[in-house]
Amino acid sequence: TPLRLSGKVAVVTGASSGIGEATARALDAEGAAVVLVARRRDRLDALAEAIRHEGGQAQVVAADLSDPAQARDAVAQAVSAFGRLDILVNNAGLMLLGPVADADPTDWHRMMDLNVLTLMHATQAAVQAMQGQGSGHIVNISSVSGRGAGPTSAGYSATKWAVGGFSEGLRQEVRLLGIRVTVIEPGVVATELTDHITHTATKDAYEGRIKQMTPLEADDIAAAVVYATTQPQRVNVNEILIRPLDQG
Ligand code: NDP
Repeated sequence: TPLRLSGKVAVVTGASSGIGEATARALDAEGAAVVLVARRRDRLDALAEAIRHEGGQAQVVAADLSDPAQARDAVAQAVSAFGRLDILVNNAGLMLLGPVADADPTDWHRMMDLNVLTLMHATQAAVQAMQGQGSGHIVNISSVSGRGAGPTSAGYSATKWAVGGFSEGLRQEVRLLGIRVTVIEPGVVATELTDHITHTATKDAYEGRIKQMTPLEADDIAAAVVYATTQPQRVNVNEILIRPLDQG
């Protein structure tokens, strides 16, 4: 049987670790050419090398996505490398948890820039490339924190709520261009995401909580991306919420 994404070109942001890396591997396994975007070029090069070694197509774009212009440029580089763009997975993100009263406001700016503004800029660049094709797919990695909030998640939830609002408005606009929009909302996944939390007490508490459970694996989320992107064109999978069984 032919691979389900043969001939498709996918950009994955944050492909150097965690969910993005797993997603890039999974899209490659379905035959897509993948464009890997993040800052850590060594990691991206190693992944691209592994993909090419198995006969796949991969391109590396080292970029700091805290700058939305670099996100637009990454999309442009993908289009110029492969001549088209079928799938954009907006995955790069930061989860800088902490209580509002005690938070470093710099954390809010970093999350807003990466989780929201970069996602919006990358999406616009992708939609501009896709609209002439009559098809395309934007996959936005939100979070359980895009649907619910709790202590220490206010700032992060604000960014993921923004992703939900942007995605829903976008969906209604671009469906007429043949472009599909999917929001994926993972619960706790074992990745490097917690490494960057600056509020130490929150970091310790959160990591302690993860140790008490069996979290999702990055591959579990990659499987959801593959599910959404391999449906027939008539099927617009709008939202997928996935929690580990252990998460209440
Ligand atoms: P990781 O920390 O493992 O991956 C984050 C990725 O984002 C890395 O590839 C990192 O690459 C990239 N990134 C971060 N900052 C930048 C930057 N300035 N420029 C370019 N790339 C950047 O975490 P996850 O895989 O868990 O996170 C991926 C997404 O999943 C995020 O949007 C997160 O909010 C979401 N999510 C994760 C959950 C979890 O429990 N893990 C739950 C729900 C949602 P590099 O450092 O090389 O630049």
